[in-house]
Amino acid sequence: MTIHSSDSTTRTLEEYRLARQLGLLIDGKWVEATSDSTSVVVNPATGLPLANIANASVADVDAAVQAARSARESWRRVSPAQRTHLLWKLSELIENDIDYLSVLEVLNQGKTLDLARGLDVMGSVETLRYYSGWATKLNGTTNRISAADERPGGSIGEAYHAFSTLEPVGVVAAVVPWNVPLVMAISKLAPALVAGCTVVLKPAVETPLTTLRLGQLIIEAGFPPGVVNIVTGGGDIGAALVGHPGIDKVAFTGSTATGRSIAATAGQSLKRVTLELGGKSPLIVFNDADLEQAAQSAAWSIFLNAGQMCFATSRLLVQKDVREQVIARVCEIAGELKIGSGLDSEAELGPVISERQRARVLSYIDSAVQSGAEMLIGGAQVPSNGFFVAPTVLSVEDPAARIMQEEVFGPVLAVSTFETEEEAIRLANNTEYGLAASLWTQDLARAHTVASSIEAGTVWVNCNVVLDESQPFTGWKQSGLGIEGSRSGVEEYVQPRAVVIAT
Ligand code: NAP
Ligand code: MG
Repeated sequence: MTIHSSDSTTRTLEEYRLARQLGLLIDGKWVEATSDSTSVVVNPATGLPLANIANASVADVDAAVQAARSARESWRRVSPAQRTHLLWKLSELIENDIDYLSVLEVLNQGKTLDLARGLDVMGSVETLRYYSGWATKLNGTTNRISAADERPGGSIGEAYHAFSTLEPVGVVAAVVPWNVPLVMAISKLAPALVAGCTVVLKPAVETPLTTLRLGQLIIEAGFPPGVVNIVTGGGDIGAALVGHPGIDKVAFTGSTATGRSIAATAGQSLKRVTLELGGKSPLIVFNDADLEQAAQSAAWSIFLNAGQMCFATSRLLVQKDVREQVIARVCEIAGELKIGSGLDSEAELGPVISERQRARVLSYIDSAVQSGAEMLIGGAQVPSNGFFVAPTVLSVEDPAARIMQEEVFGPVLAVSTFETEEEAIRLANNTEYGLAASLWTQDLARAHTVASSIEAGTVWVNCNVVLDESQPFTGWKQSGLGIEGSRSGVEEYVQPRAVVIAT
């Protein structure tokens, strides 16, 4: 496990030394935080510090919210076509910056370089491009209403001209996690901005670097001052932002626990809320499935980004008579994965985000084994200063076991078996989460029956993690509230105004 120190890495760090002077983005300018407090950003592949980042104060949060409020009118006056143009321009700047942004993300977040390029950077570019076109298509309706004309001699109907318009919700607090930082930020910014909202964005304290770079590109793209503001800091700053009376809507991605607390805070002042939360998604393999593809898909999903994906299929449910075959193949793939720094071109599995996260993942593995799970592969410490966890597969027959119920957010797969279709559905739904599921069978009728019985916002049949902005992405049950992607995702940022004019 070696860490490359190629020219591009060195250059990135040097460029970043400039970027770290940036501070907070408030009202179109980089300003110093009013507090002296900073957070150390760590490279998870080495455990070494990368940069010190300002912790915004409550006063800084207030300044950012005020800037966003002041910018609302000017942003509303920007034509829909011009908003489209600005989002597209930003997508081009991000695409042109792919080398720098992706290396920076690998250094900060730990994922492999290919994933950073494809998912984080190009995912952000495509998301911006998808949403950019909505600015010119967000129209209300004209409505033929039936109300009687109240005036003397008036008749029923035709007495009024009635229509609705779609208006921006206002100022959005966007609070995002550390697993895919740029995509998470863009998945809030893009629909908010096309809808005419202004934004205060808070990245996770572990991963602010690409978000700060994004701030530079937002200025370069020509967004008016105050339309996008960025404050860095920890959960206390997130809470101050969410609770601020100048915020009209909170758009959050993160853990279910934090989501509940945000919903409670937002409820106090009836702020709009969208929450994209955790998951414990099942991958179900029936005995008639293409077992090789199913096994590859199971391994790929749970080891992608070291298991730190909300929709990772972290429970593998296999029909009993093909159990041995599927498990053997998944373990074989797990055993062959090359662990290492994301900058190492050979590496397939990077570190988890932090020492704390590694300890959390290892404690889940320990407690699973102590309560009867069988370790099929992994679990061992990876000797390194980085926060690596070996790919781990556990056989767990107790559906109530913690490892079958709670989100680990690490490269840990829990495998269980079923005999009948009904049992498969029951096990799949036996969780408080409802984010996604992947289902493998060659039987079309079964695919339809099972897919329509799964309690989850997304079901993939004979595929996994196929995401597209044209599809609504939503968490059922404790996995969330509201929708990202598709027209519905933009509508989360507008409110209709119904107008009735007596003719
Ligand atoms: P987290 O602890 O909930 O934090 C998410 C963000 O919220 C961070 O910026 C965090 O700040 C901030 N925060 C913490 N406490 C807050 C509070 N009381 N009020 C306002 N903001 C607060 O989640 P995480 O550990 O970063 O990310 C992992 C989780 O995200 C997993 O559960 C995963 O499933 C979920 N996730 C869901 C999706 C989805 O689309 N459904 C996608 C990706 C990840 P600091 O961390 O800086 O302190
Ligand atoms: Mg956190």
